[in-house]
Amino acid sequence: MPASPGISRRNLLRGMARPAPFLPRPPGVSVASLAACTGCGACVDACPQAILALAPGGVVLRPEAGECVFCGDCAASCPEEVFLPGGPMGHVMQISADCFVHAGIACMSCRDACPEQAIAMQPRIGAPFLPRIDTASCTGCAACSASCPADAIMAVKRETEEREVEDA
Ligand code: SF4
Ligand code: SF4
Ligand code: SF4
Repeated sequence: MPASPGISRRNLLRGMARPAPFLPRPPGVSVASLAACTGCGACVDACPQAILALAPGGVVLRPEAGECVFCGDCAASCPEEVFLPGGPMGHVMQISADCFVHAGIACMSCRDACPEQAIAMQPRIGAPFLPRIDTASCTGCAACSASCPADAIMAVKRETEEREVEDA
């Protein structure tokens, strides 16, 4: 079938090969509840950590910008039913191959930053200790991501039986 006018076959295939990137959301926000977001920006303005932003699909959390302290100000400021009060994050953090230890550089910044002690350093012979995130303990606060000098920690979807949050 020919591609639509104005869309090359290459770009069409590229688009098919690349799913939309995962976007982390603030605590208590799911895909279902996000549909109620009008983009008013009240939560963005209310966040004392300045880690929220507006995106075309609704409010997003920027892990690189700082730590969520679960203050609840975003939920309290929202005039719609977007936030489930006290709800968890729909994501956990994951460390990529960009971590400095893979280049032989010792670093424990993420371990030191984690308020949940969810990051353990795995000893290795002849190489720097390797950071490992216990996703069961990870709250998705992003303190580790904000502290990482290598920009190596990103948010990924939380695998959970709580369907509403899993889909966030
Ligand atoms: S809970 Fe507080 S720190 Fe976390 S995103 Fe909401 S307003 Fe920001
Ligand atoms: S996002 Fe998870 S691993 Fe990172 S600092 Fe927070 S609780 Fe620890
Ligand atoms: S802070 Fe970043 S570079 Fe340092 S150990 Fe953690 S993931 Fe690796």
